[in-house]
Amino acid sequence: MREKLITLETFRKKVAEHSDSFLVTEQAQKMYCTLLPQGLRVVKTPKEVVFPEWEEVYRFSFQDRSWKLTETAGNDSTLRFLFLLPCEAKAVVEVLDGNFLKKDYVDKNYWQRRKNLRLVILGCSTMPETCFCSLVGGSPLWRDKESIFVFPFQERLYVENDDLALFEEGKRIDAEQRKALMFAEEELKAKLPPSLPPDFPQKLYAHFEETIWKELTWRCINCGACTFLCPTCYCFDLSVDGRLQGLALKTWDSCMFPKFTLHASSHNPRPTGKERVRQRVMHKFSYLPLREGYYGCVGCGICREICPVNWDIREVVERMAKHIGYSIRTCQEHLSS
Ligand code: SF4
Ligand code: SF4
Repeated sequence: MREKLITLETFRKKVAEHSDSFLVTEQAQKMYCTLLPQGLRVVKTPKEVVFPEWEEVYRFSFQDRSWKLTETAGNDSTLRFLFLLPCEAKAVVEVLDGNFLKKDYVDKNYWQRRKNLRLVILGCSTMPETCFCSLVGGSPLWRDKESIFVFPFQERLYVENDDLALFEEGKRIDAEQRKALMFAEEELKAKLPPSLPPDFPQKLYAHFEETIWKELTWRCINCGACTFLCPTCYCFDLSVDGRLQGLALKTWDSCMFPKFTLHASSHNPRPTGKERVRQRVMHKFSYLPLREGYYGCVGCGICREICPVNWDIREVVERMAKHIGYSIRTCQEHLSS
């Protein structure tokens, strides 16, 4: 059944029954703490599940005058379900999958984890102050065709795409309810700030050298916390431990760190915080959309929440948009009008 309505009790019972298979992100847990049963494993972001902080990539040894190399892709085939918010799901489906799976090279370790992970998107009925998903083409009800989608509706839960019959009991949605649901969706969308103008990535690209970047970036202390928690940031480093035998480790890296672009010649093309922070903004809001057709930011607001100096990427993008010459209203202006 593609669409159905289930009771809150059915939902809680089913999740509690399979609690070992369910994970939940910190953001989804915060938003739906009264709906989800206690005791689910909480992860900071979905990235942590498909692209962990560190992992072994291969082991090597020199034996009988030749090198032996063994790839260490895991072989865990347990199916897991991850509760997450629409913006976090968009980060996995568009940006992380886009980077690790849809290019010429498929990252085997990523694929091993991703193919066994089913996303269960919990649609948002309210928008926390730090979110701005609609600015970057998302919505509180964003979902894709592959994921299960759950949304509170008329004292029940609307469930879409439960092809594994995870929540098998349910009532088919009738025509009246469908109309009411579409109305609720339209009403919610009408309140949202509009997306950035379609030619924003191109125009931003042309404003790389502006002096305003200095003012927009000086406060950031380059601690990297935002990039580690960002569900779309995927930079990593490969380091080798051992000489005649050892292993290669893949660990998260960050464009905020001075050594990220340090050349062996000791030249650094991004020598100060200004270049590093500008790179972060340009990559997410210009290079990726121009190259791949999607923003590298899903508007979750996590970076703003975690930042020790309250540096706000949304504010920077909105100020840049105004600087470029768009007459946009900021999210704050839109929501308070
Ligand atoms: S840049 Fe910030 S708001 Fe955008 S996806 Fe990353 S953490 Fe979320
Ligand atoms: S924006 Fe904030 S969290 Fe990110 S590197 Fe700068 S100071 Fe750290």
